[in-house]
Amino acid sequence: MERYWQKEIETASRDQIVAWQNERLVRTVKRVYENVPYYKKLMDEKGVTPGDINSIEDLWKLPFTYKSDLRDTYPYGLFAVPMEQVVELHASSGTTGKQIVAGYTRHDLDIWADCCARQLVAAGATKEDKIHVSFGYGLFTGGFGLHLGAQRIGAVAIPVSSGNTARQITILQDFGSDYLCCTPSYAMYIAESMEQANVDMSKIALRGGIFGAEPWTEEMRQRIEEKLHIKAHDIYGLTEIMGPGVSYECCEQSGMHVNEDHFIIEVIDPDTGKVLPEGEQGEIVFSCITKEAFPLLRYRTRDIGVISRKKCSCGRTLVKMSKPRGRSDDMLIIRGVNVFPSQIETVLLRMGYSPNYQIVVDRVNNLDTLEVKVEVTQEVFSDTVTKFAVKEKELSEALKSLLGVNAKVTFAAPGSIDRSIGKAVRVIDKRKI
Ligand code: ADP
Ligand code: ZN
Repeated sequence: MERYWQKEIETASRDQIVAWQNERLVRTVKRVYENVPYYKKLMDEKGVTPGDINSIEDLWKLPFTYKSDLRDTYPYGLFAVPMEQVVELHASSGTTGKQIVAGYTRHDLDIWADCCARQLVAAGATKEDKIHVSFGYGLFTGGFGLHLGAQRIGAVAIPVSSGNTARQITILQDFGSDYLCCTPSYAMYIAESMEQANVDMSKIALRGGIFGAEPWTEEMRQRIEEKLHIKAHDIYGLTEIMGPGVSYECCEQSGMHVNEDHFIIEVIDPDTGKVLPEGEQGEIVFSCITKEAFPLLRYRTRDIGVISRKKCSCGRTLVKMSKPRGRSDDMLIIRGVNVFPSQIETVLLRMGYSPNYQIVVDRVNNLDTLEVKVEVTQEVFSDTVTKFAVKEKELSEALKSLLGVNAKVTFAAPGSIDRSIGKAVRVIDKRKI
């Protein structure tokens, strides 16, 4: 039987959700216009006043907010409350440039806890469970977010944080962790390390995993589920909007329900800014409608995804967004062809290779080159030179047929590619160095 954390919200009628959104959007726009000079300027420049925003139908009239706006107002220029009301700060991990700072009031933390509680409960966690949090604790939002969520449902939070994989395994065994929360790449690394240490999986209590903070494929999910004997759930969030808890998977594992009572999602054409209809792929844009300290409006996430309002068997009425296939800035343009690292991951895993890979892009004689380094087993690595070459060629052809560009494949020795304890670094783009 499906369980909810806040049933009356998660299964509310569409009319009710829209009514909440209308009222909260109008209130937030007014507040932001009055309290954040930078927003007032953006709105004035676009010729829109709070009086023009009467419902979510008017959302399109508002200006977009970009990462560059956050950098221009760094660190606190978009806060909508005085600092005395802020009780916590976090910052993005800075994967793609200068970090940005997010502030939370007590009320914001309260909402954050509920949003993270919803995703734990949707993944089947209960107050009887021990939640092993291997997301980093610190400025990164992952650790604290899941921690708040675990405590909110009355479960036991185990704040292991990231790193020291041998210790993670000892704790998984000795403390009897029921749920593991971390990046999917770190989950894979933990699984691999458990295999190497010959851990008896029947002695591991783990039932589920809550993984996110980076793109991962369905193939990767299957691998993790098989290796750790768990159900692996995807969660999505970003520092600018709140951190983890923006959207989460239910038992269906086919897209993530967006916490629409707090965030309005739009999918837009990244070139024209036009709002796209349900089902069309584009850039995901969020507006925060309940946040006090740092309520961004129409924030351009640069994440590429699709939304669906199809009825979900879990009973939730909250809209679902697809697994983002990556950020528009993760997309590689190789000789004019768009390539997402996740497409490469799909091919590797489907052909039975390991998820330990690295993509190296370079420019030689004005031509882009793509190299995929992938770790192989000791057995393959010690194969005869001919067999080795045949396999490399076979993989290279499979990549070419899916991506439409030539890819050089290089097999690497087991354990030779750096493992990540947080977000995996998959791409080395030498053209940018
Ligand atoms: P940084 O911007 O420094 O990486 P964040 O931790 O705020 O810091 O990163 C948020 C980003 O992580 C999102 O915009 C998205 O690109 C990515 N992300 C988060 N969760 C997922 C997920 N489940 N699937 C794919 N990408 C994700
Ligand atoms: Zn559902």
